[in-house]
Amino acid sequence: MDCDIAIVGAGPAGLALARALADTGLHTVLVERQSREQVADPAFDGRDIALTHLSRRLLRQLGAWERIAPAEIAPLQCARVLDGDSPQALGFGDARADAEPLGWLVSNHLIRKALHEAIAPLGHVELRCGTAVEQVATDVNGVRLALADGSALRARLLVGADTRFSATRRQMGIGAAMKDFGRVAIVCRMRHELSHEHTAWECFHYGRTLAILPMPGDASSIVITVPADQAQAVLDQEPAAFEAEVAQRFGHRLGAMRLASKRMAYPLVAVHADRFVAQRFALIGDAAVGMHPVTAHGFNLGLSGVDLLAGEIRRQWQRGADIASPAALARYQSRHRLATLPLFHGTNGIVGLFTDDRLPARLARKAVLHLSERLPPVRWAIRHKLVSREHVGGPLLALLP
Ligand SMILES: Cc1cc2nc3c(=O)[nH]c(=O)nc-3n(C[C@H](O)[C@H](O)[C@H](O)COP(=O)(O)OP(=O)(O)OC[C@H]3O[C@@H](n4cnc5c(N)ncnc54)[C@H](O)[C@@H]3O)c2cc1C
Repeated sequence: MDCDIAIVGAGPAGLALARALADTGLHTVLVERQSREQVADPAFDGRDIALTHLSRRLLRQLGAWERIAPAEIAPLQCARVLDGDSPQALGFGDARADAEPLGWLVSNHLIRKALHEAIAPLGHVELRCGTAVEQVATDVNGVRLALADGSALRARLLVGADTRFSATRRQMGIGAAMKDFGRVAIVCRMRHELSHEHTAWECFHYGRTLAILPMPGDASSIVITVPADQAQAVLDQEPAAFEAEVAQRFGHRLGAMRLASKRMAYPLVAVHADRFVAQRFALIGDAAVGMHPVTAHGFNLGLSGVDLLAGEIRRQWQRGADIASPAALARYQSRHRLATLPLFHGTNGIVGLFTDDRLPARLARKAVLHLSERLPPVRWAIRHKLVSREHVGGPLLALLP
């Protein structure tokens, strides 16, 4: 064998798994099609990630949290949901600066950079950049990978962390439930006149949704969701017109707003793999579950899955047993699916409800917001999921927006 574990993709999930197994000394090879420079010092990609308390705990354990400058971390104190022009808002959290935050916002590229720094000193973790995995095959004895540069790799366990459109998943014969929303998320950073007061807003306007996430200083991450056929027009809109439109759609709550980055587009396709494991194979990150970003669960679930899989591999290694044992992989699958499946379907249902502009859906979401505002158990469940430091699974998650 060339190595113990081969990971396809050095995105945040792949890097996190390599770091999570640091104590085992298992020889791990990450294969990444991007260049070494792009992995070591990734460019801003417009994605700003809302991290839960569990994710912060896991990033601390991975030695990544402390590598992110405190000035780059924005606490999230409150969250508000607005429907159309209705003054009624569903709200959570406590705006006082000394209150426990609901979570934290950090740019995706800084998380990737910190995770890369955390694996860089590990002698047993190898990063092969600038080449893609083209073909994979597994049998009872091991795994074979064919790389685009013509080289081959043999391992005991193969892990697919190669995006929600994972080619590795497909080659391993695993299908996936896919929900193409026919919409595109356009993301950018904006500066504004007034303070965001560490509050995130989700505004469901007819035809478009607008999310405003508080970043460090007087800046916010903007996520505009539009039907795919309108995306190019929003990307091409004159900056001044774009700025004025965002400020107006947000009711001028932040005063004048100015673009502070270019606009980037992400097609909205949610994916849930039919299985997370196969012979000597496991899926993690978006390759297992690629969530709609509206509920900010994608990377949080990815980290949680990494922790579960690393725990199973570590237990096998401690006992001197096969790290790719079918029973260990099955335990990972059942625990992670229990957490992800209800959330995946619940999120897709709620996204459908909140982006449907027909009258019945408008009435239904007004009722949902009204009920959620008045039912303490629903508000408690949402808050509990955000601030929990443990893996949360089961039907409770289906309640969450
Ligand atoms: C607009 C937006 C906002 C979001 N906001 C949040 C949020 O607030 N909270 C949250 O938790 N999540 C959020 N997410 C989701 C989060 O960004 C993803 O869940 C996370 O980035 C997935 O990480 P990953 O490592 O699984 O995959 P990726 O980041 O997609 O990385 C996969 C890597 O695999 C490499 N690769 C692919 N194929 C191959 C191959 N054949 N060979 C070698 N390498 C390969 C790619 O180059 C890439 O580097 C958001 C997503 C979007 C789009």
